This record gives sequence, C-alpha cells and structure tokens, in this order.
Amino acid sequence: MIHKCKMSIIRKKETVLGRKFPFSSEVFFIFACFSVFFFNGCQSTRDNYPVIVHPSSPGQQLPPEISSDWKPPEVESSSDVPWGWIPPKSVEKNWTAIIVHHSATETGNMAKFHKSHIEEHGWDGVGYDFVIGNGTDSGDGEIEVTYRWRDQKTGAHCWTPDNWANTDGIGICLVGNFNNRKPTKRQMDSLVKLTDFLQKRYRIPQSRITGHGETRDAHATDCPGRLFPMSSFKSMLNF
Ligand SMILES: [Zn+2]
Repeated sequence: MIHKCKMSIIRKKETVLGRKFPFSSEVFFIFACFSVFFFNGCQSTRDNYPVIVHPSSPGQQLPPEISSDWKPPEVESSSDVPWGWIPPKSVEKNWTAIIVHHSATETGNMAKFHKSHIEEHGWDGVGYDFVIGNGTDSGDGEIEVTYRWRDQKTGAHCWTPDNWANTDGIGICLVGNFNNRKPTKRQMDSLVKLTDFLQKRYRIPQSRITGHGETRDAHATDCPGRLFPMSSFKSMLNF
C-alpha cells in the first residue's frame, strides 16, 4: 500500500510540464500563483511613477553623460541667482541632464504637488527639483525650489529602467496643461533663466536638455505637452 502511494507521487512529479521536478504539482501550482502575485506587485509599484499619457515618439538618443573632474564653481547669490538655487556644497551632485515637465493640471504649486505626490503616489514628497508657477497657486513665472533640490535627492519625475533620468537629471515642472495652452511668457522667461544657470554650473549641453516624453528610455508620455515650444525654448539658451 505504502509502495503504491509512493509510486503515485512520483508519477505526479513526472507529469508537471512533462518534466521531472523535485516537488509535486501542488507545490508547483502554489509557486506559480506566488510568481504571478509577485510580478504584478512589481508592476503596480512601477505604475506609481509619473503619469503615462499615451505612446509618443521613441526616446531621443542622448550622448553619453559627461564624466569629469567637475567641482562646483564658486557662485555668489545675486538677483539673477537666488540662494536657493545653489545647493549646499556638502551634498551637491554633478547633474548631467535637464528634464522639462508640465504638471498636466491647470493650477498648482510646489506645496500642492508635494501633497499629491505623497498621497497619490506614496513618494517621500514632490518629485521635481523646481516648480515654475503660472499665476494660479503661485506667481506667474515664480520659481519654487523643492526640498529635493535643496537636499540633492534623486528625483521622482521621469522613470527609465535604470532610473538614470531621476538619478542624473534635474526635473523642472511648469504648472499648466500644455496640451490645452502654451506656457505663459513669464514661465518661459523663468525657465530660460533657471536653465541658463543650471547649464553653466553643471556644464550641461543643449543635447542633454529634453522634454519628459523625449527622454531616452522614458515611459511613453506627451509631457511637457504638445504645445510646449521646445525648439524656441532651446533657441533662447546661451550655453
Ligand atoms: Zn513629465
């Protein structure tokens, strides 16, 4: 009787996908269920990253990032360079790219995005480094510096498989939905001024300034919006 039972188990092991497994089909089934649960879990975590709108063009191929013996230049604060833009030396990183976003909302400011990114995505705070207002919840063209820039933390604004855009890229968000309207002139003036400072400080060439949706390997999105004037923005840059 015992012998018969053992034979039955062995046959069952042998029938799983026609191969010999060191465990029974029940164990195999439980393992398969766990695998499905586990990978779905990864997927939902990944979906917590910034909004995917719809597929767009394949990612722009950026040149390799610049590795150098870069040291932060001595820059004095001035009317053109507020103190908040200059990170503490003890934590300052050598950023190598700038990623431009729109908020895809008509209104907003740093505090509102900070709250929504915590509550809706479970992040530790607002995902961007800078937020440029449109006159709704902050001034038109007002540049707000987030804690993420102040502490030089990795961003949460542009997901790629190796996370390079969040690790090495500076995230600037302009408030507004630029699928419906263009950014204001003051927003663009502020964006140019801020980008000019960042380019010079970190020696970031124009080829490494990109809209979210054009970023190499980024999730498909039309951010910073179809009406964002990328080419005229780049034509206004000096570096
Ligand atoms: Zn974006």
